Amino acid sequence: ESVEALDESVPGPHRVQDRSNESPAPVADRFANTPDTDPSTAANRAWARLALERSSDTELGDETVRTSTLDGEDDLEALVLDTRKAAKAWEARGTDVRAQVLHQAAAALADRRSDLISVMAAEAGKTVAEADVEVSEAIDFANYYAEAARRLDEVDGAEFVPDTLTVVTPPWNFPVAIPAGSVLAALAVGSGVVIKPAPQTQHCAAVMVESLWQAGVPREVLRFVTVEEGPVSRSLIAHPQVDRVILTGGWETAQLFRSWRPDLPLLAETSGKNAIVITPSADIDLAVADLVKSAFGHAGQKCSAASLAILVGSVAQSERFERQLVDAVQSLKIGHPQDPQVTMGPVIEPPQGKLADGLTRLGEGESWLVEPRQVGDDERVWSPGVRTGVRPGSEFHRTEYFGPILGIMHARTLDEAIQWQNTTDYGLTAGIHSLDADEVNAWIDSVQAGNLYVNRGITGAIVQRQPFGGWKRSSVGTTAKAGGPNYLTHLGTWSPRPLRS
Ligand code: GLU
Repeated sequence: ESVEALDESVPGPHRVQDRSNESPAPVADRFANTPDTDPSTAANRAWARLALERSSDTELGDETVRTSTLDGEDDLEALVLDTRKAAKAWEARGTDVRAQVLHQAAAALADRRSDLISVMAAEAGKTVAEADVEVSEAIDFANYYAEAARRLDEVDGAEFVPDTLTVVTPPWNFPVAIPAGSVLAALAVGSGVVIKPAPQTQHCAAVMVESLWQAGVPREVLRFVTVEEGPVSRSLIAHPQVDRVILTGGWETAQLFRSWRPDLPLLAETSGKNAIVITPSADIDLAVADLVKSAFGHAGQKCSAASLAILVGSVAQSERFERQLVDAVQSLKIGHPQDPQVTMGPVIEPPQGKLADGLTRLGEGESWLVEPRQVGDDERVWSPGVRTGVRPGSEFHRTEYFGPILGIMHARTLDEAIQWQNTTDYGLTAGIHSLDADEVNAWIDSVQAGNLYVNRGITGAIVQRQPFGGWKRSSVGTTAKAGGPNYLTHLGTWSPRPLRS
């Protein structure tokens, strides 16, 4: 295996505004992001092809999944008790030892990059490119939180008391990076962790967890459990001895968890309905490329994905924009990721409910610029859809579909575009393409979202450089941003301690 390191680079000029409450630390002078695999070398392409070939016939993670069922309430009580006990010993080992183990975890994840890509392609339908950045992100979380945890010890006047038991319920759309980030953050502060993977991507989570065990995270401290949705899974979330639940998923799921246990300390990154505004001053070539990537990367199944493009003034009348967008969308290669040429893979399950509606039903005044269709026999494989004429306040304007559909709105002015961008219930990511500094500054001052992107795509936040978290219904119970300096401070409580003299 040879993986050549590329210098890290982010395409295009970009500015990101972090609006989190940044305490306590200027983090990690000892941190550098991990480069992704360079696809331009023949050796790396051969390496990627091998990972894909293995993905159609893999037992990765099987044993961990098979042996981890949580059967009944007795099992659950033992799990909670044992993990809390082991967590106390883990915390007592001290920040330095834990940081060391986390750095080892980063190395173990890097060692299994190819396995992780195989299992993500097999189980989540991820292309190599999409899976590869997830491995890098998981490695970054390990190295970053290892260092960030040390900073907690340095805060004057307050003592950080970490949670003892954290339950992690990750989503299937980032089946390695998100569970890794949540688990590693809790481990870094000295908490024990029970991870209940998303049912659709249990094997991805299992391989990630195995890497952490191999790196020296005790199995008693990090518990992997599979449990069907039902009374036992509900008791796990609502258990009074659970100090915190880290959820990434729908806003409705967060509400459901709260209804099970009203005082539940919940740290949840939830839904999004994200738009990119494109003004007449924009570089149209760049705008189209960023829009397509943000809308259809991983078949649009990202909380951060662009679901709306709001065209301002003359862009709305521009045939050139429309033609370029249609060409770009139609040149995506749709299929299964086992074919290395495929640039957009399947959706996780045959579309039903909201997503099925979004792929088939137009609202008043809307028409298809590119009509989505099922491709071949697999009901999960859909070509992307672009609808135009989306009206403010309409169903499409407000709904998160979580799939490969983009809607286009036509605004008269930038102010109107910003207003539409803000009038959804969510506030996760937001973008603008404009080469006019006054426009960009006006936009930054009034847009309501946790992550703002200027003249670049709106997905793919990067640990330390672009901590990730949302406003409004895009987060519940927290202002924490994953991969940022304040994340760990939410995984415990603070008690006053006398200032050192
Ligand atoms: N952090 C991811 C990104 O910036 C999105 C995570 C999610 O979809 O939940 O694209």
